[in-house]
Amino acid sequence: MSSVGGKVSLVGAGPGDPMLITLRAASILARADVIVYDRLANPVLLDHCRRDAERVFVGKEAHHHAVPQAEINRMLVEFASRGLHVCRLKGGDPFVFGRGGEEAQALSAAGIEWEYVPGISSAIAAPGYAGIPVTHRTHGSAFAVVTGHHDPARGFEVSRWAVRPEPRSTLVILMGAERLNALVDELLTGGWAPETPAALVSRGTLPSQKVLQGTLRDLPEQVRAVTGGRPATLSPATLIVGEVAGLSSELAWHRPGSLHQRRIVVTRPESQAQPLVNELESRGAVVLSLPLIRLRAVEPFELETLQQHWDWVVFTSANAVRFLREQLRACCLDIRSLPATARIAAIGRETARVADDVGLRVSFVPNQMNSEGLLREFPEPVARLKILLPRAREGRDLLAREWGARGAVVGVLPTYETVELPPTEQQIGSVILEPAADAVVLASGSAVRALAASLTAEQRAMLRVACIGDTTGREARRLGFGDLAIAEDPSPAGVAAALEGLLAVEQNGGTGPPEGPKGE
Ligand code: SAH
Repeated sequence: MSSVGGKVSLVGAGPGDPMLITLRAASILARADVIVYDRLANPVLLDHCRRDAERVFVGKEAHHHAVPQAEINRMLVEFASRGLHVCRLKGGDPFVFGRGGEEAQALSAAGIEWEYVPGISSAIAAPGYAGIPVTHRTHGSAFAVVTGHHDPARGFEVSRWAVRPEPRSTLVILMGAERLNALVDELLTGGWAPETPAALVSRGTLPSQKVLQGTLRDLPEQVRAVTGGRPATLSPATLIVGEVAGLSSELAWHRPGSLHQRRIVVTRPESQAQPLVNELESRGAVVLSLPLIRLRAVEPFELETLQQHWDWVVFTSANAVRFLREQLRACCLDIRSLPATARIAAIGRETARVADDVGLRVSFVPNQMNSEGLLREFPEPVARLKILLPRAREGRDLLAREWGARGAVVGVLPTYETVELPPTEQQIGSVILEPAADAVVLASGSAVRALAASLTAEQRAMLRVACIGDTTGREARRLGFGDLAIAEDPSPAGVAAALEGLLAVEQNGGTGPPEGPKGE
């Protein structure tokens, strides 16, 4: 088989934090035709790939290979044989317990061109993020990275090390969290002293990182206490044994994210939730999805309105831009159909960014990110100007009314409409009530109404909600949501900041858990 131009890059995705990827890996991700990725490669990284790239998830969880290795090998060979550039994205480094070596052999055997792009291995990064240097002149002059898997074909790998405890050497054990008790027994039986320092680093480098530190004697009990006897809940986790593990208490430097372990419900349509989900997860939140609205293009679309003469086209939301483009596409047109005379204004940085993405040059963005700000800050007198508002069918009338009163000719061009999706009782139960969500993010009046319809007055009064924009906030108040914050800045960072405020208020009130360190 020959790979006419096809190629496979075996790429390390780094240990977890998406910023810990190499520049080379990021540039391959941005160019590849196909991304074949594992569970341990942070899915946020897929934001870097080409929009039209094919993404193939091949799983790989402990004890459970979603796609068997032989099948993955076959898939890589096949994609490359079709002339495609494949990015085989693996957690950490591809050649550290990643079966990258086997994939390379399969590719070589099939005559496929391949390359290796090293990644930062969790074997070094997870200990490091817990304040454990794997070597240290006084405390550790060598380290071994071993698997904690029990592989009957090859014997107990850890036991082979266990019988030769070396003073001042470090054992880094991957894939061992679930067998922790058995591993510790093997090490003790092999001659390691019970007081040898040991640490378990769970989800190292991520905002939800957890470190348990002690000795070989007491670590299993600590893990049991934290996990209720289910150590797998700490996966992925790395076990470090040796003197250096004792340095963690002195050198721990990585702070948990500001929303660490907070359960936040995001109610945007799934197709648009990702940037906010990424932002919240990067601050340590556990994000749950409960779409409360669906958006759809309005029919019929009034193309003639768009094609008149306009001095300004004003976008009040990113969706207005997206749906205008979709409507134009449906007419086999593109954004060049906007009148060439028109200047573009956008409310909010995200709206401006999306407009820029579709090729529109935005001339004006008000500092205050709502209609009131636009009215106040608009760069010229509006009398006799022709202003077009592509927007939701059920959008606010404020701009049209105010500018109309000031002598402008305002055209409203509905491009999309909102359909409310009130959640079922079962969804309310599992996503919001049990276990209780810390906060729900609401992005529009329709989302507020859809949620309100499924909750009792008492539940509404109890629930904490973060509303994007004043209008959403007013609707939430009107419908009896008691505890709310308003994000005036609708960007993901703005919403996250509002959530931090909302949850910290409660902490200051003394009813919540003690306040952790803030920010990353
Ligand atoms: N190639 C990967 C390792 C794959 S084996 C690398 O170089 O990092 C998978 C094991 O790596 C997990 O069972 C766990 O022991 C470890 N691991 C991966 N990501 C981790 C993380 N973020 N924190 C702690 N351990 C991690």
